[in-house]
Amino acid sequence: MALIITDECINCDVCEPECPNDAISAGEEIYVIDAALCTECVGHHEVSQCVEVCPVDCIVLNPEIAETKEQLYEKYLSLSGQPAPQG
Ligand code: SF4
Ligand code: SF4
Repeated sequence: MALIITDECINCDVCEPECPNDAISAGEEIYVIDAALCTECVGHHEVSQCVEVCPVDCIVLNPEIAETKEQLYEKYLSLSGQPAPQG
C-alpha cells in the first residue's frame, strides 16, 4: 500500500527530504504523497522514513491502494530503472 497524509499534517516539511523516491511534496493545503512513487520505502529502507520522522503521526497506509511487498519491490525496481525479475 502506498501511504497517505491525513489532514492532521502541520506542514512542517520534515518528511519531504527523507523520501528516497521523491514521492512527497507540498500540496495546496497539506503535504501529499504521490502513490505512484511511494514504495513504503521498500528497496531503500526497512521502515517508512516519512512515518519515522513525522512529529504528529499523520502518515498512514492508504487502504484504497492495496499492494503486496512484491508489488512494492517491483515498483521500486521500475522507479530505479532496473529490470523486473523474470518469472
Ligand atoms: Fe517516501 Fe517511503 Fe514515505 Fe513512501 S513510505 S512516501 S517512499 S518516505
Ligand atoms: Fe506533514 Fe508529517 Fe510531513 Fe510534517 S512530517 S509535513 S506533519 S506529513
